[in-house]
Amino acid sequence: MRVLVTGGAGFIGSFLCERLLEAGQEVICLDNFFTGRKKNLDHLRDHRDFELVRHDITEPVLLEVDRIYNLACPASPVHYQYNPVKTVKTSVMGTINMLGLAKRVRARLLQASTSEVYGDPTIHPQTEDYWGHVNPIGPRACYDEGKRVAETLCFDYHRQNRVDIRVIRIFNTYGPRMLMDDGRVVSNFIVQALAGKDITLYGDGSQSRSFCYVDDLVRGAMLMMDQEQTIGPVNLGNPVEFTIRELADLVLEITGSKSRIISAPLPQDDPTRRQPDITRAREALGWEPRVQLREGLEKTIAYFDALLASDEVHRVRMS
Ligand code: NAD
Ligand code: UDP
Repeated sequence: MRVLVTGGAGFIGSFLCERLLEAGQEVICLDNFFTGRKKNLDHLRDHRDFELVRHDITEPVLLEVDRIYNLACPASPVHYQYNPVKTVKTSVMGTINMLGLAKRVRARLLQASTSEVYGDPTIHPQTEDYWGHVNPIGPRACYDEGKRVAETLCFDYHRQNRVDIRVIRIFNTYGPRMLMDDGRVVSNFIVQALAGKDITLYGDGSQSRSFCYVDDLVRGAMLMMDQEQTIGPVNLGNPVEFTIRELADLVLEITGSKSRIISAPLPQDDPTRRQPDITRAREALGWEPRVQLREGLEKTIAYFDALLASDEVHRVRMS
């Protein structure tokens, strides 16, 4: 099996490349290195079944592959809002290019969609048949609407051209290899706590998220790709819900940090609650998360602790 992973140098993608190689598959990783790093793949570089290609998926590409995991797209609000038009292009033109490739070489394509398709949800927890509540003109729209169109494209290529698709809706996923300046809450709080800086709690911290450890997510994505029963969409996430204030308290407790929690403005359109209903994933894939938040945070904190102590961070700060 030859597998293409777009966005493979990023946080989730790098773990996916690793697991696919462990499963004996040939992996071609394609990335434009916007938020991805070659360093995430250093340990795979010499693997005989691994290739890394610099490419932007908004441009067409022709590769003989059997499967495509389409992960290319910045996921952190800070990064996807940096160049919103490019974010839309990546989700729309990029997904068209990847579906066109899948059609041409008869590959199966798995689309990394997101809980953001539900927007600020009016039903709780979110099931896959909920159509969502998204502001189409707000600052998050480039990502949310881009991902919604990407899902539309998957289903239209499936109906119109019989492209074999799989769609997963990923809920907040965290773990090692998130960027230090990523802007997402888990990496922000951990780096702030370890550096003894103030913890930036946006709003009053009563908004909730459900956090999935990266190993669980990658296992779910591979199960989804490898089964014949459902094309999706299927929610993948950890259904245990926490408020953001609870997350801040937990990070402080585990790190033993003396950082203060300070209040910062709540970003516009920040979803109030988010929790996946994973009945479909349980039934179709026999999947559920195994790593609970405390254990996942401990692993992620150990990663950032080592990184902060390393020369690499020093070099980044001096440059
Ligand atoms: P990430 O930012 O670490 O990874 C995205 C990767 O895509 C990076 O390597 C980046 O360089 C690459 N990329 C971006 N635009 C590209 C382009 N035009 N061409 C080629 N490569 C490009 O983010 P992540 O958390 O690893 O997310 C991976 C995927 O999962 C994304 O599609 C994201 O939308 C989706 N997702 C993630 C989460 C999460 O909580 N981590 C939640 C929902 C959905
Ligand atoms: N958040 C926060 N402090 C931060 C970063 C984020 O309180 O330093 C909040 C943010 O407002 C949101 C939640 O944490 O309510 C999750 O934010 P993230 O950017 O990680 O993901 P998303 O909003 O896309 O779920």
